[in-house]
Amino acid sequence: MGSPTLDAVTEALRNVEDPIFQKPLGALGTLIDVRLDKGRVWAKVRVSSPSEEVRQTIQTRVETALEPVGVEFVELELEVNVPTREATSTDPIPEVRNVILVMSGKGGVGKSTVATNLALALRRLGTRVGLLDADIYGPSLPTMLGIEGHPTSKDGKRIQPLQRFGIKLMSIGFLLEDPKQAIVWRGPMLHGALQQFVSDVDWGPLDYLIIDSPPGTGDVALTLAQKLRITGAIIVTTPQEVALQDVYKSVSMCQKLNIPILGVVENMSHFMDSAGVKHELFGSGGGEKIAEFAEAPLFGRVPIDSQVREWGDQGTPIVQAAPASPAGQAFTGIADALAEQIAKEHFNRSEGETAPEGEGPKRLRILR
Ligand code: ADP
Repeated sequence: MGSPTLDAVTEALRNVEDPIFQKPLGALGTLIDVRLDKGRVWAKVRVSSPSEEVRQTIQTRVETALEPVGVEFVELELEVNVPTREATSTDPIPEVRNVILVMSGKGGVGKSTVATNLALALRRLGTRVGLLDADIYGPSLPTMLGIEGHPTSKDGKRIQPLQRFGIKLMSIGFLLEDPKQAIVWRGPMLHGALQQFVSDVDWGPLDYLIIDSPPGTGDVALTLAQKLRITGAIIVTTPQEVALQDVYKSVSMCQKLNIPILGVVENMSHFMDSAGVKHELFGSGGGEKIAEFAEAPLFGRVPIDSQVREWGDQGTPIVQAAPASPAGQAFTGIADALAEQIAKEHFNRSEGETAPEGEGPKRLRILR
């Protein structure tokens, strides 16, 4: 076989199929650059999701595609360009690409645990993440992330979020004397506080802003939907029947507000004993039922694991403390699924656009 030509290499790469959109990179316009030097290829591809699985799949497909062309060495640069929700001219946080609500029908199902671990898992994939604890009835993020202190303001106008593990954070708990103190707020107060948290906090550019909303009520969803376009909601549930009734209400609320349900997370799904036997303590099938009702994917199931609570109580969520544990892996898988779902929904809505216009890299070169 003769030495590979740039034309042949480019053609082979253009035909590689994107694992999320199932279309060739050439047709998607996501093959950004290809260079060939002494039989070695350097290529740059844009992906819409930071998912590790997506990266590995593209890598493998690129290697497979270039082998018949006679290329032995490939260096692949993947540029993650997370899609952006539509921001109107009055959007208070246009630099925040995605706003994601984490909801549940009732308290105690692990909604805050899921929100926190999900935020961290997305951060660990290399994206810019913010976490807003809007659960005014029981703000738990200060404890779960081991943060004390009060946010400050540099200019007296915008509040600087606190930071931990590379995530920007804001919680009603930061503003209370005692974060464990329960507060009962009436609707208008919640409305005002939330507006402040969104508009007056200096979030800066983010790929994902995860919002932990209070259980049951749709107040947060309602207030936010009036202010900005929400990318979508994640519903957290347990496998129990009893919990399900409340969850249906959250789903219907989102549907009324035109907030897409991105996916469902089943938490405290099962318990693995030391012999590796699975026990379904709270029944089974809850997540699937909700997913079916919401016409959304089941992102994953998180097992019951005392480490989840222990690490949470110590201020280091399990995905950070023990990413290889079964629960840690479950959260990482859920983050992957969420990122992919956001990319897919954006693609379908924008009729085949992988990245928003005017965003992303300007280094695009026309090949050949
Ligand atoms: P919610 O936000 O729905 O009220 P939390 O996230 O505060 O629920 O979780 C309630 C309690 O359950 C916490 O003590 C948390 O550590 C624990 N917990 C959550 N998920 C799990 C899990 N998968 N395994 C074990 N404990 C969990």
